[in-house]
Amino acid sequence: MLLIYCPYCQEERSELEFRNAGDAHIVRPANIAAISDEEFEEFFFLRDNPKGLIFERWRHMHGCGRFFNAARDTVSDKFLMTYKAGEPKPDLHPTPATSATVETYEATEGDAR
Ligand SMILES: [Zn+2]
Repeated sequence: MLLIYCPYCQEERSELEFRNAGDAHIVRPANIAAISDEEFEEFFFLRDNPKGLIFERWRHMHGCGRFFNAARDTVSDKFLMTYKAGEPKPDLHPTPATSATVETYEATEGDAR
């Protein structure tokens, strides 16, 4: 089972207690009523979806209920770090792709059914 560190509860908890809330550090336009449809599309819908390092918002739904940010590697599904909402984006850089073994759902949870 994947464990996620909540920066508010200051402990690792089961992934079942958390919910992904999309990309982190998306800046809302100052006057959203004044932007064009194309600018709104860019702000509201379009995301980079990179392979590797990504910064996301997460919510500790079945714990403290608070939102926080996480740096996660989408290839390995490893959380590199979590930090409180409002804190600056950490200076992390994507790591080059490796041939490291990636744990799959079937490999880690397959016997639990
Ligand atoms: Zn929490």
